[in-house]
Amino acid sequence: MIVMKFGGTSVKDAAAVDRVAGIISERVHLNPVVVVSATGKTTDELVDILDRLEESRDVQALADHIETNHHKLVTELISNTEHRTTAEKWVGRERERLGKLIEGMKCLGEVSLRSRDAVLSVGERVSAPILASCLASRGLNAVCVDPSELIVTDNTHGAATPLTTRTAARCKAVLGPLLDKGAIPVVGGYVGATDQGVITTLGRGGSDLTASLIASVMGAENLEFWKDVDGILTADPRVVEAARPVDAVSFREAAELAFLGAGVLHPASIQPAVEAGVPVVIKNSYSPETQGTRIVLRTKMAPREVVTSIAYKRDQVMLNVYSTRMLGASGFLRRVFEVFDRLAISVDHIATSEVNVTVTLKDSEKLHDLEDMLGEVANVEVTRNMGVVSVVGEFISATSGVAGTILAALSHINLSLITYGGSGVNLSVVVNNDQVPWAVKALHRALFEGGEPQ
Ligand code: ADP
Ligand code: ASP
Ligand code: MG
Repeated sequence: MIVMKFGGTSVKDAAAVDRVAGIISERVHLNPVVVVSATGKTTDELVDILDRLEESRDVQALADHIETNHHKLVTELISNTEHRTTAEKWVGRERERLGKLIEGMKCLGEVSLRSRDAVLSVGERVSAPILASCLASRGLNAVCVDPSELIVTDNTHGAATPLTTRTAARCKAVLGPLLDKGAIPVVGGYVGATDQGVITTLGRGGSDLTASLIASVMGAENLEFWKDVDGILTADPRVVEAARPVDAVSFREAAELAFLGAGVLHPASIQPAVEAGVPVVIKNSYSPETQGTRIVLRTKMAPREVVTSIAYKRDQVMLNVYSTRMLGASGFLRRVFEVFDRLAISVDHIATSEVNVTVTLKDSEKLHDLEDMLGEVANVEVTRNMGVVSVVGEFISATSGVAGTILAALSHINLSLITYGGSGVNLSVVVNNDQVPWAVKALHRALFEGGEPQ
């Protein structure tokens, strides 16, 4: 079997869903399990509803808008009365559920993390039945499967971690017999449930993770991510116009890129497939004949560029912790990292000297506690509004001159921190937020366009 995952942009309107149905039809012989995201901007709209509820503002119009969009999609997409009626019933049922959840939150005067997940799940709970009905109207034996029956997670609402053994057992028990019967299971991504059946979500962009998990536990022959780009590009196309697709990237490169901010894949989505050795390909649902990017165990160096792609993150915090008191004394790093551990804060990049540790991390509400607690150990300096720009490539550390090219390209801006090494797959620099686009463009010119630094 194979797993095919279609992102929100691939199902944003009737023409897009119809194109997706065509792509699936051509792969029926490969026994696909289909994972689908919420349509277009539905999840963003659900987030808007939750944010407005927190401010006690009206959300009726937004909720109606989501329903109208889905009804419009169904009307334009499915001409067969029976299948259109089935899809419309799902839309109506989920609108009713959303209405009840909204009333409940208004009544209680609170928007709990648990309620948030119940609301956020609505997008995928509608998109999957619509796609399944569309496939059925084309004569395919598509069956919609509730993701809360498949993906078992812990109870970290908003960013739940899947429990692999239990998820594997459920997937095999539910999907196995369907595949054996020649059916095409269609599963909404992003959504899971705790052992007690409470709805959770896997973090924004989490449908990629759903697909990767299903592929790994079912031992898929292939995992296909269908997006609106020709694969993994040399940079974010929204920043660099000249960005171009990369034929193949290694698992290590893909995982690093995802963690370092390349928005094309959910950060945790590569790991399950890697561990199970499932080959992955990223393709464009708007241009299915284009080759896409393969994620493979190892890439060959030539003729490919040494660098695979450039990723970036904005709105990061740089934290400088130093203590001259600890000069010559052992245990400084242990004391600092104990604090991170106690607050369950993970850091992205680290540079250290004997009495100084500089780290970058995501801005969060926990930062005040972190500052207070670290203040007991050392002096702390917090710099907000920073960006991290990373150059990723398996062969960077084995190739002389790359670091020189990177630093020369950035010679006009102030680099607050440089990290290189560790995995050997990336070189990252910390710059001010507003210099991020400039840095990404300059690096792309120097590394991929054969250009001189400006
Ligand atoms: P999905 O439709 O599966 O949810 P996403 O929107 O999450 O897809 O990811 C695709 C988008 O990621 C692209 O439209 C592009 O704007 C953005 N992106 C950022 N960095 C890259 C990159 N290096 N390669 C390809 N796309 C990238
Ligand atoms: N619909 C969710 C989101 O927009 C999950 C996903 O698309 O992967 O984040
Ligand atoms: Mg996504």
